[in-house]
Amino acid sequence: MPLNLSFLESCSEKVQNKIGRIIEEGELEAYLKDLYPENNNISTDKALFTYAQVIRKKYMKKAPPAHKVVFDESDDHVYNALGDNINDLILSDNGHKIKNVIRISSVYKSAPAELFHMVLVHELAHLKERDHSKSFYRLCQHMDDDYDQHEFDLRLFLISKGY
Ligand SMILES: [Zn+2]
Repeated sequence: MPLNLSFLESCSEKVQNKIGRIIEEGELEAYLKDLYPENNNISTDKALFTYAQVIRKKYMKKAPPAHKVVFDESDDHVYNALGDNINDLILSDNGHKIKNVIRISSVYKSAPAELFHMVLVHELAHLKERDHSKSFYRLCQHMDDDYDQHEFDLRLFLISKGY
């Protein structure tokens, strides 16, 4: 599978070369482990929901709640550029929103703790801002001081997992 490295295009040549070299040498996993030594330990839907609630209550009290936060075992919800497909709405017959369901790909169970947190931050922010707008990213940065770096490193994590 060819790697999708298009996200590197916005980086300096120096960073592109560095990342390219790390990937080529098969050192990506070790590189991430070095940056993020702490593993995520959330592995059940119950723990995931509790974890999401804690983040939401801390930073976005006024946002609509997530009714369900679950792991998704299918590959369909793994994406290169954090897509919106994992934040589903269950609609009633008349089209009214009745439930917010956040699906987190089970691939992230093996992500470093900080990157796992970032994935939750991203999806929770969509409860308030549907689009990847400036205010969406401001909200993400409010919940995660190092959001941009984490999003970048999450792409590296996915590459390290063969996505
Ligand atoms: Zn998104």
